[in-house]
Amino acid sequence: MSQIAQHLAEVADRIANAETKAGRAAGSVALLAVSKTKPLEAIVAAFGCGQRRFGESYAQEAVDKIDHLRQDPAFDTLEWHFIGPLQSNKTRPVAERFHWVQSVDRPKLIERLQSQRPPHMPPLNICLQINISGESSKSGTTEEEIFHLARLVSGCDRLVLRGLMAIPEHTADAGRLAEQMARMQQLFTRLKAQYPSVDTLSMGMTEDLEPAICHGSTMVRIGTAIFGARDYS
Ligand SMILES: *Cc1c(COP(=O)(O)O)cnc(C)c1O
Repeated sequence: MSQIAQHLAEVADRIANAETKAGRAAGSVALLAVSKTKPLEAIVAAFGCGQRRFGESYAQEAVDKIDHLRQDPAFDTLEWHFIGPLQSNKTRPVAERFHWVQSVDRPKLIERLQSQRPPHMPPLNICLQINISGESSKSGTTEEEIFHLARLVSGCDRLVLRGLMAIPEHTADAGRLAEQMARMQQLFTRLKAQYPSVDTLSMGMTEDLEPAICHGSTMVRIGTAIFGARDYS
């Protein structure tokens, strides 16, 4: 088995164990393979193993990769999620290529993605990113602002509000991490009650996928455990 195949199987096991431990249905948590900084060959190897959802963080790098993969027979089966900080002047190539943008945190991005999503494509799936730890290094909006942004997205016919995304603090303090994840879970529950299209809580990375699944995550975003450590991030 190739290394990526083995890693994907290990991650699938971790997810399945966490689902069981949390008393959640098998298969209720989706896996997003985060391929940022990784070469095309790594993505090809992963979709050769059946992985279909990929996350990228840097607009130009992502556009180059997606455009290269277009000729692959499997291309139409792949789903691309933009998960990095998005500058307003980089929205067009993202709106034209991705299926999801998970890092929406301000009205300007909503306006631009709405106007730049090509009419022949299905509406773009949107997650609102919350800076749940309040760290100044992290992007994302506040808990107060989320409902305002949700209203804006729900008024856009080229966008569909799917849920929330967060990167909780990288900390060895399990209580602190659980507190942040529990607040995300509560916000997700409130948002879902207001918007029927909301079904996604994107939370959990290589280091914290188990507590994330315990706190209701429906999509974990895994890079290192699948593709190995990154040279830059
Ligand atoms: C890089 C990245 C990940 C993956 O992190 P790993 O720790 O490598 O699993 C997940 N989410 C976002 C937003 C990222 O930028």
